[in-house]
Amino acid sequence: MEKLAIHGGTPVRSKKIYYGRQWIGDDDVKAVADSLTGDYITCGPRVTALEQKLCEVTGAKYAVSVCNGTAALHCAAIAAGLGPGDEMITTPLTFAASANCAVYVGATPVFADVNPETYNIDPDSIEAHITDKTKAVVAVDFTGQAVEHDRIREICDKHGLTLIIDAAHAIGTKYNGKPEGSIEDITCFSFHPVKTITSGEGGAITTNDPELYRKLRLASQHGISHDPAEFVDKNPEGPWVYEMQTLGFNYRMTDFQAALLTSQLTKLKEFSDRRKAIVNRYNEAFADMPEIIVQKEIPESDTTRHLYIIRLNKDKLSCTRREFFDAMSAENVQCQVHYVPVYYFPFYQERGYKKGLCPNAEAIYEGIMSIPLYPMMTDDDVESVIAAVKKIVDYYRK
Ligand SMILES: *Cc1c(COP(=O)(O)O)cnc(C)c1O
Repeated sequence: MEKLAIHGGTPVRSKKIYYGRQWIGDDDVKAVADSLTGDYITCGPRVTALEQKLCEVTGAKYAVSVCNGTAALHCAAIAAGLGPGDEMITTPLTFAASANCAVYVGATPVFADVNPETYNIDPDSIEAHITDKTKAVVAVDFTGQAVEHDRIREICDKHGLTLIIDAAHAIGTKYNGKPEGSIEDITCFSFHPVKTITSGEGGAITTNDPELYRKLRLASQHGISHDPAEFVDKNPEGPWVYEMQTLGFNYRMTDFQAALLTSQLTKLKEFSDRRKAIVNRYNEAFADMPEIIVQKEIPESDTTRHLYIIRLNKDKLSCTRREFFDAMSAENVQCQVHYVPVYYFPFYQERGYKKGLCPNAEAIYEGIMSIPLYPMMTDDDVESVIAAVKKIVDYYRK
């Protein structure tokens, strides 16, 4: 048996690799540089062009670009009409923002449990948590895999709920051939550097509904309309008049971020294909390792995977998740855990959310870590990650 790096052995690779990173090419640099010398550096033609491109890529009728994915979710909560006294159902196995957007508008997040194999929100658990206060569902395409749209849609229709998809992980993913972004009432994207494509910070919201689109725009731009056709005052005093119609925020994206994202979008297919190839290679490598459990995919989802999660099979390994994680790190493969269940955070604990709420999510959390997955990884990088997993599994195999 090989000596683990954590015990003084030689690491499987000499340079540290992280779980994710962006890929910025010369074309992206040029696009940003060109945008900076134009007439506008915010709210200009590149933002408009980006929103059109996002509609093309997602198949949505409308797109609003915003400054980050969290702002997208906040606007979605506003457009869905969530407020004090309302409940919004989401998953605990996500980034905090998926739940926080309810709190921003004074509503209450309610956590439904996840499917133990796909790790996505369980439609039965959504239904079990519906009360007469429930107004919306935020379903997260966890790791990029599409949620069970058909069943969740049916539940939301039956109970009159707005269905918001947190697709921060899932640009490029399709469900039954339809791209994420065009399927449900509102879809939110993030373009943070670890996500599939990036604008540094950035986000977008898509919808097919003109009324939701109007609300999303207003929420992200101070609640202000510049279009006289939409004015409450039908006789504005002059051409300088704009109207603040609701309370909104300044969540705009700049033109140079839009230039970067538009350039990145042209490479979405390439990035997506590379991610899929790496996922296939990992799946193949772990298929005959009962010590490692991999995420199950539903056949409806054609997934552009954002994260690759391995789950340790406790019955087959004699180490803790912490020991495995630290051993990977010593082999120079820096993993991360996605995610600590949201309601474990002090903010939620102080508000009365108790551990034990979602047993599946909690059990999954205990044994998972995300291994490196990003398009710029070379085949050698991929093989070194597999070698590190194998080496540590060999050492701790029961
Ligand atoms: C990244 C992420 C967000 C937030 O996006 P930001 O752009 O970082 O604000 C929201 N939800 C999920 C699931 C995410 O992964």
